[in-house]
Amino acid sequence: MVSADVDRSLRKRKALLRTFLLAGLLLSTVVLVGLAWSTKHIPTPTTGLSPTINSSWQTALKHLYSPVRVGIQIGHERALEHPEELARLRYSTGGYANSVSEVDINRKIAVAVGERLEALGITVDLLPATVPPLYRADLVLSLHADSSRDPMRRGYKSAHFRDPRNRLEPILKQHLDEAYLKHSKLPHDEENVSGAMLEYYAFNHKKYRHSISQRTPAVIVEMGYISNVEDLDVLRSETPAQAITEGIVNYLRDRGRL
Ligand SMILES: [Zn+2]
Repeated sequence: MVSADVDRSLRKRKALLRTFLLAGLLLSTVVLVGLAWSTKHIPTPTTGLSPTINSSWQTALKHLYSPVRVGIQIGHERALEHPEELARLRYSTGGYANSVSEVDINRKIAVAVGERLEALGITVDLLPATVPPLYRADLVLSLHADSSRDPMRRGYKSAHFRDPRNRLEPILKQHLDEAYLKHSKLPHDEENVSGAMLEYYAFNHKKYRHSISQRTPAVIVEMGYISNVEDLDVLRSETPAQAITEGIVNYLRDRGRL
């Protein structure tokens, strides 16, 4: 009698333990499947090609999974260090006019944009003239200032690759143009967009290993002419950094990344 009771009690405990184990296994499977789904369906910052996901928990998870990252290239910075594939650009050290070097203007504005973005919690990479092979981020901007023998020529312009490398590049360009033209009040110098801008070496992933990934939207910006005194006043002010930051933030908000 005592022995039968003990057996029954032991069987009951074993059954209970099995139920707990099964429930635990089921729960872990549900969690793992959920995580796998999220990893597969939530867009990474570098593809940017998936539709925006609006649900708040998914947005939170997405940010945890892939923090917002922006690359800002300082045009002509350390051009002498270009690798062999870009050797012809080692002496492309930027314009010089009115006792001002373009690269100094590019650097000052890039640093100021970087500080403003970092204050918003965004990770920023300041990139030199040679970009890391197939660099990826939410977006890349290449900052330049123009110069001309004609001191009257002035204005702002921007370009993505001649045939956009992804569907986001025209959207990024539009946000930048809107913010920059509004804040700087510079004329739009779009008729002077050059072939070198439309086939910018750092965006030419088919030709160069040291280039921005095709999936990362990238735009080159000519922020004004250092050879024009009115433009130079703007370039020396806080306005370019403020305008470029606003353009970037508006783009990231549009993409549901902020
Ligand atoms: Zn330049």
